[in-house]
Amino acid sequence: MRRGSWKIRIFIGLAIVAFAFIQKCNNKEENPYTGRTQTINMSPEQEIAIGLQSAPEMAQQHGGLYPDERMQALVDAVGNKLVNNSIARETPYKYDFHLLADDRTINAFALPGGQCFITYALFSQLNEAQLAGVLGHEIGHVIGRHSAERIAESSFWQTVTMGATVGADMGNVVGSIGQNTLLKNGRGDELESDELGVLFMIQAGYNPNEMIRVMEILKAAGGPDRVPEFQSTHPDPENRIEKIKEAIEKYKGQG
Ligand SMILES: [Zn+2]
Repeated sequence: MRRGSWKIRIFIGLAIVAFAFIQKCNNKEENPYTGRTQTINMSPEQEIAIGLQSAPEMAQQHGGLYPDERMQALVDAVGNKLVNNSIARETPYKYDFHLLADDRTINAFALPGGQCFITYALFSQLNEAQLAGVLGHEIGHVIGRHSAERIAESSFWQTVTMGATVGADMGNVVGSIGQNTLLKNGRGDELESDELGVLFMIQAGYNPNEMIRVMEILKAAGGPDRVPEFQSTHPDPENRIEKIKEAIEKYKGQG
């Protein structure tokens, strides 16, 4: 390779990396519901559209919806109670709470824009207040805009990786930094959602200590060598319990 083209490659690579950083700074905004500044590159309407589009496929992956309408009605009632007594009601999001037929996988998750899911395997182990804890946590992911934030992060790292690959053969190094950043954010997301979940429980009149029980149930379900999915990307339950206790202290007067 000629000396000149080597310099041009470095220059283009740096320009792409600089572009990624400028984009990231321009996309910073304060979340009006959590007060946290985050990098987001989509509107709430786009989040809602992504969630609605992916919801049927997510349900399909867990054996479809649970057939008993009475159980589904209970999930709806608890979910709506949390929304109607909290700031979630003032957001543009469209909340839907789905009970999934899957009776083997202990799991709950939320898609951007308000589509929340819980498997029957988890649901069947919970009392109403504990169900409120799980759904409150999922609503926390929605209003915390965690999926949108992760999408923005990953497109940032894709651009940086592209710049580094053009500039030199460093794509893999930068790529792995990106992965770690995503995982670290994921853990922070869980703690923020636990805290919001506790607040929503208190505001809806549920005993927030039941959230601690939820963590114990998740931990027990994990067993010696089986980590529940709800937990696999999540921080250690012991660590979460400490933070949950702090949140209960912080919000206990807000019922
Ligand atoms: Zn979570």
